Amino acid sequence: MTAQLHVDLGAFGENLRVLRDRVAPAELMLVVKNDAYGHGVERVLPRALEEGVTWVGAFDVATGRRVRRLAGEAIRVFVWMLPDPDDVAEAIDLQLDLGVGDAELLEDAAAAARRAGTTARVHLKIDSGLRRNGIRPEEWEAVVRRARALEKEGAIRVIGVWSHIAEASDADDDDARAIFDLALTQARDAGLTPTVTHLAASSAASARAEFRYDLVRIGAFAYGVAPAGGPSALDLGLRPIGTLTATVTAVENERVHVDAGFLHGLPTALAGAADVGTPAGRRPLLAVEALQSLVGSWGGAASGDTVVLYGGGVDEPTATEWAEAIGTIGEEIVTRISPRLPRTPA
Ligand SMILES: *Cc1c(COP(=O)(O)O)cnc(C)c1O
Repeated sequence: MTAQLHVDLGAFGENLRVLRDRVAPAELMLVVKNDAYGHGVERVLPRALEEGVTWVGAFDVATGRRVRRLAGEAIRVFVWMLPDPDDVAEAIDLQLDLGVGDAELLEDAAAAARRAGTTARVHLKIDSGLRRNGIRPEEWEAVVRRARALEKEGAIRVIGVWSHIAEASDADDDDARAIFDLALTQARDAGLTPTVTHLAASSAASARAEFRYDLVRIGAFAYGVAPAGGPSALDLGLRPIGTLTATVTAVENERVHVDAGFLHGLPTALAGAADVGTPAGRRPLLAVEALQSLVGSWGGAASGDTVVLYGGGVDEPTATEWAEAIGTIGEEIVTRISPRLPRTPA
């Protein structure tokens, strides 16, 4: 197996600097779910810490544990996937910040904190329209009153109020922001004093200043991957940090065989729809098989040549371009790459 993902930490550091400048004075939370969008938490996190990142969005407790192990106590680690009380107890033990999107989870957090003799750090989530997860607006006032009572008791502290938006249409996002603002007012009226409010991910944080509040949760753009629509990562001066390469194993007249296939994470739909970068420039991706792909040939092609499947260099397709060729978003490409492929320095 010769396929590998080269991770350019220099580009990652620059992306973080560009994004932090753009969203300031809001702070940046680096989202590292899906193993840092396929690039490897252990590989990218030390660089993020060097760059001064102080908030990390870990998604689940397993990732939060890895982040704590690497980063120590100095940073805030936010988790919002807490499917059972064991997760909540471990999250509190690890001093993670808990994203709480329902009344029952709020009680679980308080109960776990009482047992541990500590105070749970809670970020209450209002459902601002996505309806995936979050406290419904009609329940919100009762939940914030209950949260205030639990604060007085010392079991929790409401550090944050947050929500997640679709970032697919400005009008829908504006509606979501109005719901968010009302929820914030109601939380303060109930006596809560959240110090971090957060709503936006990559797109809205980059494009719309009024969505930044205190903190923005950035995943895709930090890795140089763009969601469909919204501002393009390249327009903002962000560079893809991952380059997926593989070696030519055989050459026929019209086609070369490349050592990466769908078992390595390449979507089969790319065949006939996307290009790859070769030593002679772009060539079409003709077929994606289990363990290899077939690519349009070039003069002088030889076994051992390196093909860039996606990357960020001149005349190389980006992961975002691959995604757009098959009607999806860049993170769907990068998070599918097999965890068994080596991640190596660029
Ligand atoms: C994935 C995720 C993000 C980051 O989104 P990007 O578009 O990749 O920046 C932010 N917040 C939540 C809740 C998420 O699940």
